[in-house]
Amino acid sequence: MSARPCPRCGREFDLRRTPRCPSCLVDLWLGADEFVRPKHDPRLLPLQWESYRSVLNPDFVASPRPYLLFAAEQGAWYFDTHYDMQIQFTHKPLGRAPGAGIPVGRSMPEHALDSLLIAEADSAECAHAFAVSLEQFEAQIRSGEFRPLEVCPTHLCDQLQRPGSDRCEDHAEPAKTAEPATKD
Ligand SMILES: [Zn+2]
Ligand SMILES: [Zn+2]
Repeated sequence: MSARPCPRCGREFDLRRTPRCPSCLVDLWLGADEFVRPKHDPRLLPLQWESYRSVLNPDFVASPRPYLLFAAEQGAWYFDTHYDMQIQFTHKPLGRAPGAGIPVGRSMPEHALDSLLIAEADSAECAHAFAVSLEQFEAQIRSGEFRPLEVCPTHLCDQLQRPGSDRCEDHAEPAKTAEPATKD
């Protein structure tokens, strides 16, 4: 445990587990432009889509904050190597299935999905939520598509960083400038 006070609200949190304090992370997610996208919005049902999709459960959409606080406190951070973004995964937030799946050609959900995924979870603009299955998520970890974030090795830093990188963004080497060397 490496507790730090949140610079925004003062709440202590563990930088090795989450890049922001859970309370402020929930504010960031809910402030995103389209946290519940039409594809995953149960209020638009019945509705067919051109591919398999998941919809969130109506209770989640009506009052997301308790689910998200649970997720922010209990969930884990990964890097999605396919979409090149950070994601946050929580199995059964509040002990419930946060959504359900709709097969191609159908217009209503047919099976529960037990886990919540926040895509672009570090983005104040683009964060968005949908439901997934733990079984599928674990298969994507095994295949290397999703990799856990790592802790920056810089002394006393403890921030999470992209897997495979040397340091977190704060401690990365500054990019070399592309300007040609000046002659004298
Ligand atoms: Zn905070
Ligand atoms: Zn660092």
